[in-house]
Amino acid sequence: MTSTIGFIGLGIMGSPMAGHLAAAGHRVTGYDVASEALDTLVADGGIAASSVAEAVEGADVVITMLPDHPQVEQVVLGEGGVLATARKEALLIDMSTIRPETSIELAAAAKHKGVRVIDAPVSGGQTGAREAALSIMVGGDDADVAAAMPVLRLMGTTVVHVGPHGAGQVVKAANQLVVGGIYALVGEAIVLMEQSGVDAATGLDVLAGGLAANRILDLKRATMVARQFAPGFRIDLHHKDMGIATAAARQAGVSLPMTGLVAQLVASAKAMGHGSLDHSALLKVTEQLSGV
Ligand code: NAD
Repeated sequence: MTSTIGFIGLGIMGSPMAGHLAAAGHRVTGYDVASEALDTLVADGGIAASSVAEAVEGADVVITMLPDHPQVEQVVLGEGGVLATARKEALLIDMSTIRPETSIELAAAAKHKGVRVIDAPVSGGQTGAREAALSIMVGGDDADVAAAMPVLRLMGTTVVHVGPHGAGQVVKAANQLVVGGIYALVGEAIVLMEQSGVDAATGLDVLAGGLAANRILDLKRATMVARQFAPGFRIDLHHKDMGIATAAARQAGVSLPMTGLVAQLVASAKAMGHGSLDHSALLKVTEQLSGV
């Protein structure tokens, strides 16, 4: 069935995701504060809106893919925002990575307006977004998640309902602490091999065939060895995500020392001025600590 979809936030991730929905025949009207982002949507078969309200008006489904909770709160709760404009029974799918409490608060605020909401953050990076192969972790009520599934499956290959409102964000926080840890360790492996006089590219090929195999090695080892750090996923966003993970740990009353260490490494990368580089640039922190 063809849906009318409003899509807010057409950045590195949102742009290809909206493109897949338009390619599948949905009527996708998008909005982004950066006007260049709208040109790509139009080229992909979508419609450009000049405000959130224009994108949301009359939509069956509204998708937000924004940097962090302040932008999501502004777009959803603000004047002329999603809740002020959406029709009753519209389904808001927030795919941004934000703190779980905000997802829970948005769901409560939306309920007052008769709007349904789910949290559906993603993993898989820019490649996953471009290839419609994202892993999507979904929090919300059963019926709303079921209603969202046909749309979510156009963007992801692994789409799982993990629990109530906010649960998607908790799973995403868990994802981000694992991803951050792997990047930090792959960076350390590269620095160790290079500084020991071993060719790191050759060494990583061996790692990728053994127990250390993982998707980051598969997708990123060549660019890491070549020191190509164009984002991708910016250090600034991973810094935000480690803040979400450490706050979630405090909330759950659990001790996650490795997560704390990764959070410090990501904070160091940001403090060193690498915030706009890809998170694989954690390697640069290891180099600096090693005097390389
Ligand atoms: P991005 O910065 O490339 O895109 C965000 C877009 O939102 C930008 O185009 C920006 O102009 C727009 N925007 C900001 N405020 C706005 C507003 N008030 N109204 C309308 N548009 C607004 O970021 P991204 O990399 O696409 O990430 C988006 C979300 O997805 C983040 O929460 C991020 O943590 C998450 N995420 C990113 C990746 C990745 O690899 N890049 C992977 C998984 C999850």
